[in-house]
Amino acid sequence: MKYFAGIDIGSTAIKISIADENKDLIGHKISASGSMFYKYAHETLDALLNELGLIKEDIVYTVATGYGRKIFKEANENISEITANAIGARAAAREHGQIKTIINIGGQDSKAISLDDEGSVVNFAMNDRCAAGTGKFLDACAMNLEIGVEELGNKHFESTGTPLSINSTCAVFAESEIIGLLGNEHSVEDIVCGVHYSIAKRIVKLVKRVGVKEGIYFDGGPALNAGLVNAIENELGKKIFIPRYPQITTSYGAAIIGIDSYHYENKL
Ligand code: ADP
Repeated sequence: MKYFAGIDIGSTAIKISIADENKDLIGHKISASGSMFYKYAHETLDALLNELGLIKEDIVYTVATGYGRKIFKEANENISEITANAIGARAAAREHGQIKTIINIGGQDSKAISLDDEGSVVNFAMNDRCAAGTGKFLDACAMNLEIGVEELGNKHFESTGTPLSINSTCAVFAESEIIGLLGNEHSVEDIVCGVHYSIAKRIVKLVKRVGVKEGIYFDGGPALNAGLVNAIENELGKKIFIPRYPQITTSYGAAIIGIDSYHYENKL
């Protein structure tokens, strides 16, 4: 069996997926990007191969994607994260039905991608100028509230009041606003819920720029936060599909692109 690696070097996390010739995901690994992307990407790949009982030679084609994709020089190819995300999303949702709109929130940006009936990208909108509406903002809020980012989802559902409004449009001011709300004895749960709704409102604006088409899919690390999912669904007024491993779909898409490129290059 031949194997294919997709390496997504994001601003916050490195995600690696390994697919087999049938395009099935056979394993994945996530690690922090830190400051030495190149070194950590190699370490993560070695650790994943080790876990799967594979050696480097089993990987016949590697595609790098994401913010730091160009530093992974050993890749056979590098590809934009928008294309990789679209292909990974379709594959991850193949048992769910057709995907027409992708919401992706990463560590430092957020995107809305519109797909046609064949799954090709027809339009996208991106926010990479402002931290509000990104994973970095969620991380900063969790830190200010002295909880882990993985606790945000549960806190959201424990909120009892109407969601607080966080009005600052800039993440730096929003952080001060949160500290102010804490000082005014608002509960952590109500603040978390307010933060999720403030991000959801921004995301919905982004999605409306590309057009809201049914078959809505949400991925990226923040899609692991069920509270944020709930806020986006309520703001959109529509159900959203979350794949089983939302943080790794772009790397999975890169691995799938590698299968097609390998077959094309070797005339198989
Ligand atoms: P990038 O591709 O830009 O590196 P990711 O898609 O990997 O970004 O998302 C990183 C973000 O995901 C983090 O900043 C964090 O806010 C969020 N995240 C990661 N793990 C979890 C988790 N278990 N629960 C909630 N949010 C998470």
